[in-house]
Amino acid sequence: MEKSVLQKYASLIVGYGLNVQKDQDVLIQANIENHDFVLLCVEECYRLGARKVVVDWLSQDLDRINYNYRSLETLSNYEEYEIAKLQWRVDKLPCLLWLDSDDPDGLSGVDMEKVGNALQKRGKVAKTYRDQMDGKYQWCIAAVPGKAWARKLFPELNDEDAIEKLWENILSCSRVTDDPVASWREHDRILKEKCDYLNSLGIDSLHYTSKEGTDLTVGFMDDSIFMGGGESALGSGIYFQPNIPSEECFTSPKSGRAEGIVYATMPLSYQGNLIENFWIRFENGKAVDCGAEKNKEILSKMLEMDEGASKLGECALVPNKSPIRQSGILFFNTLFDENATCHLALGAGFDNCVRCYEEKGKEKCKEEGVNESIIHVDFMIGSDTLDIDAITKDGRVVPVFRNGDWAF
Ligand code: ZN
Repeated sequence: MEKSVLQKYASLIVGYGLNVQKDQDVLIQANIENHDFVLLCVEECYRLGARKVVVDWLSQDLDRINYNYRSLETLSNYEEYEIAKLQWRVDKLPCLLWLDSDDPDGLSGVDMEKVGNALQKRGKVAKTYRDQMDGKYQWCIAAVPGKAWARKLFPELNDEDAIEKLWENILSCSRVTDDPVASWREHDRILKEKCDYLNSLGIDSLHYTSKEGTDLTVGFMDDSIFMGGGESALGSGIYFQPNIPSEECFTSPKSGRAEGIVYATMPLSYQGNLIENFWIRFENGKAVDCGAEKNKEILSKMLEMDEGASKLGECALVPNKSPIRQSGILFFNTLFDENATCHLALGAGFDNCVRCYEEKGKEKCKEEGVNESIIHVDFMIGSDTLDIDAITKDGRVVPVFRNGDWAF
């Protein structure tokens, strides 16, 4: 890809996505494969006045070796310096940029039971620190091509052409136009307009039905609100765009209010494994049964990660005419696939989907029904036959989606 285009993308991510301010610190997590693009991002951070930029280099190949050779104990525990780093993040609230280029099958063959157990233990420790910085710092997830990921999507092409083609798709889905920031401002405005309408309805629950067999009712909290596009960091008030791309209006339902069955319409890439053609049945808000054509054990294990892992944390509405869906590509990557179509997420909900959450605080949000878990895993349920009705608090039935698209 031409350097001038990549430069534009880097400046969209860092300048508009993260919105790095003078004297802020920035933490970038990226695969070593993406070294050159990371350098563009780092320079862009400094150009905007960042005080210090730190890069955590990641490698799935290295992860795989570690998972295979290390004991469960060494995989599960944080070393003191790792704890110190979490504390540094709590104290300094650096902006966090995650450049995702993972191979969706990158961990296949690894003992996922062991990995799941280790992540469960680490998650518990990390959560204490995460809770303290929740909502207070700017963050952004964006994608860059990795070789294995590109080859999975375009197996007929050689490495170089596959990467180029993945770049083209990432950039067009991320609205990297002649003036990406202007495109994003307009897109952000439309998302906010949709959310305002949804929030004006006084929704008590959403009823999903589809030809795939989905028949699910998800209940909201009294104060659930839909969000979309950019957010403001607590305290500083700095506006940032957490996902590039982002096409969703989403909210957190009430933990414990979901009834019925839902069929996934896309495979789920979970920790380097693909779970395919699966369904989940809910009773009293809890997943009580599930099935999958492939990797059902991994799905079951995921649902058992902790008490909240079997409950819903997110309902997101995405029309089928999103540029990602229009690209016709299944990315095997949550950032893209979740923005192609409607989805739900198992696990943690979002405090900021509760009206006035800043004043209420974490405990009150939990009381109102924001689900708690160490996992947050999105799975896609949208299709051309998905209809969604909102049932309002005063008993009206308002069409929200018809045939996979906005009904208003
Ligand atoms: Zn989402």
